Amino acid sequence: MSAKILVVDDSTADRLMIEKMLNQYDVLTACDGIEAMQQIDENEEIQLVILDLNMPRMNGFEVLAALKSDERYKRVRTIILTNYEELENEIKGLELGAVDYIRKPISLDALKVRVNIHLELLRSQLMAEQRLAEQKSTFERIFNQAPIGISISYGSDSSDGISGVDTQINSMFEQIVGRTKEEMIELGWAKITHPDDLEKDLSYYKKLKSGEIEDYSMEKRFVRPDGSIVWVEMTVASLNLPNQKEIPHIALLKDITRRKTIEADLIESERSKSVLLSHIPGMAYRCNYDREWTMQYVSAGCFELTGYPSESIIGNRDLSFNDLIAPEYRAFLWDVWKERLAKREPVKQEYEIVTADGTRKWVLEMGEGIFDEKGRVEALEGIIIDISSRKKFENDLRYRSEHDNWTGLYNRHYLESLLESDASKRAAGKRAIVSINLSPVQSLTATYGFHYTQDLVKKIADMLTQFCNDKQILFNTYENRFAFYLKGYKDKNELTNFSIAVAKQLEPVLLMERTSGGIGVVEIDEGNEKDVDLLLRRLLITSEKAIDIYDRDIGVCFYNEEIEKQMIREQEITLELAKISTEQEDYGLFLQYQPILDLKSDRINSFEALSRLNIDKLGIVPPLEFIPIAEKTKLVVPIGRKIILQALRFLNELKRNGHRSIGVSINISAIQLLRDGFAGSLLEMIEQTQANPKNVGLEITESVFASNHDEINRILGRLSDTGIHIAIDDFGIGYSSLARERDLNVNCLKIDKSFIDRLMYLETDDAITSDIISMAHKLGHCAIAEGVEHEKQREYLEKWGCDKIQGYLISRPLDEKAAIEFLKTYNH
Ligand code: C2E
Ligand code: CA
Ligand code: CA
Repeated sequence: MSAKILVVDDSTADRLMIEKMLNQYDVLTACDGIEAMQQIDENEEIQLVILDLNMPRMNGFEVLAALKSDERYKRVRTIILTNYEELENEIKGLELGAVDYIRKPISLDALKVRVNIHLELLRSQLMAEQRLAEQKSTFERIFNQAPIGISISYGSDSSDGISGVDTQINSMFEQIVGRTKEEMIELGWAKITHPDDLEKDLSYYKKLKSGEIEDYSMEKRFVRPDGSIVWVEMTVASLNLPNQKEIPHIALLKDITRRKTIEADLIESERSKSVLLSHIPGMAYRCNYDREWTMQYVSAGCFELTGYPSESIIGNRDLSFNDLIAPEYRAFLWDVWKERLAKREPVKQEYEIVTADGTRKWVLEMGEGIFDEKGRVEALEGIIIDISSRKKFENDLRYRSEHDNWTGLYNRHYLESLLESDASKRAAGKRAIVSINLSPVQSLTATYGFHYTQDLVKKIADMLTQFCNDKQILFNTYENRFAFYLKGYKDKNELTNFSIAVAKQLEPVLLMERTSGGIGVVEIDEGNEKDVDLLLRRLLITSEKAIDIYDRDIGVCFYNEEIEKQMIREQEITLELAKISTEQEDYGLFLQYQPILDLKSDRINSFEALSRLNIDKLGIVPPLEFIPIAEKTKLVVPIGRKIILQALRFLNELKRNGHRSIGVSINISAIQLLRDGFAGSLLEMIEQTQANPKNVGLEITESVFASNHDEINRILGRLSDTGIHIAIDDFGIGYSSLARERDLNVNCLKIDKSFIDRLMYLETDDAITSDIISMAHKLGHCAIAEGVEHEKQREYLEKWGCDKIQGYLISRPLDEKAAIEFLKTYNH
């Protein structure tokens, strides 16, 4: 835009002259003030006015005044035309806003120079203004795009807000606070400040306003319209700007809500961590990975756990944690950590510490390594808790599971686990188990009661303890069985000597108690060490073998294959018995019948039924072998039933052959008789087979009475009331007292074969057999002699009035048919 110059003069000549002088410029003319003002209003480009003072209608002064009165004319510069004699006019004109004057008559050069200067000035002023405008817009852009909230207040604002004050607020500020500039100006900052932060903010603000401080920063909260809170970091500073009567100030805001939430979360997590740590039933720690376990941090629980305050352990001030660990665990624990850290796995380890008062305490440590970026262990962290009560409980439990309650010795369970672990460890040296089996002691219980036997077992346990050392460990494997586990003995000889020594030690006690026992020895080798069950079974059969062999004494028996064979044989018999018991058929179970001769009439008047077992693999098994097995396995009850049924059927067979009064006596073992409902089921069977109870005899041994005399006698009474005969078998060798025989509901005494055997070598008068016969008679019983093999015996028995005899002299036990045949010929 080129500047236009307006020449205002009422003299046409002057106008033309000036116009001509300034022909290089764009010149407009006006003949008076009114026309000049019109032109200026219409033409924005007029920037320089050359103004004559003396004019009609509106003179130059009036034009100057008009130009000065309106902002719009600021751009217009005025040069007044004066005369030499009108000096005061020049001053007046300048005062009214003219920028220069030119005296008439106008010199061309002076005019040109002046116009040039002013146009030049005008141009530079314009340029300056333009630059200012540019700067202003840059500032505006920055102001509005800045990532921080900015507000600039010019002039003072009251403490309750910034209302009514000239304030600039950028959009970020609006965003942060959640309100528009207008809202903020209306409400004032105090109202949107969180009440808890207001006091502090106000006090700073006052100081700033009073000039006491130039700026301040604080973290504060604004309340957004929705009630939510925004945390900001705010800096407020006074601005030193020219031309301001009030010092303006600027406020810068940065939204720090996110940081604050993280901080709050962190504080919360720190707080809960510290709550947790202070309530841990033990102590939490952070320590260096060094031999001392140098503690960096130890929670307060340290005192309760160790008896030392945390400070004394941290940094090893008074002692290190390693000092606290019971010495035998120190190296171990180091190795555990080393191994786990190598795998970057956590540690969970129980061990003992020694507390401040010197006592030991079981603790459980759970921790892990903290690694740096290079994978090096930076520290260890974890917790250590008191597990002493659990340990005590565990130990008690283990003690109880490993020991027998009564004797306090290790039990079978522990022996088994020891044997198993030694087998897997392939323990060096010779190993053996020596069992001391005192099962015969059990029979004392029947006579003297449970406590008596228990006391005896305890007494024996104490005696055996003398043989204990770390190579000879004693166990109470069962109620009245003991075992020594021997390790590292030299040879079999040493084993024998040891066993004999034990036997010698026990012998007097057992003798005094009129009982016995057996010692069984099993050597452990590669062949049997794996099967602990087998070992212990062999041990049992060997010791039972010893009991059998030595009968009334205590002796030693080594396990050998013979015993093993016998065990296998026993197993086979057991299997067969079990099969017979469960199935309908009798298989190999059958009876033989041995005739019993009535001496007075010289006629056979009954048979004794003797059972046999025919097993394919073993041939005929005698009752002395299979009955005890049947008793041990309780199979004697169903087997006994089958025997009774066979005997009753034999009675029917006799009947069919015309022998209506011939009897059969059946051997009944104690277990059968003591079984509930024995009498009932027997009578039922008799009824079923329609046998005559008077032809049925039962043979029981004296020992039956030992356990429950009155009850047994009641059962026998009930049976003999039906006509059944009851005989006491093997009389004379048992334990029952003769005085009691009087009350027994029995009919017969079967004098044991040993008394009959003696008749062969003793002088007739010395034998007590005659006494037994007469005693039997006195008690109202009949007497039967068993095992009569020789005529000499028969003669004696006849002489002393024995009622009946049975034995090879008359006949061996016979099969059913042969028995009936025998009867026909003998009784004919
Ligand atoms: P026991 O009741 O004393 O039976 C007599 C045993 O002596 C029978 O042996 C018989 O064969 C044998 N014997 C008979 N006369 C003579 C003789 O003159 N000389 C010799 N040396 N022995 C003779 P067995 O049959 O071997 O029976 C042995 C034991 O087995 C019986 O002794 C009895 O206690 C028991 N027993 C047999 N059968 C049964 C049964 O069915 N049930 C029960 N519970 N036990 C039975
Ligand atoms: Ca018998
Ligand atoms: Ca007998």
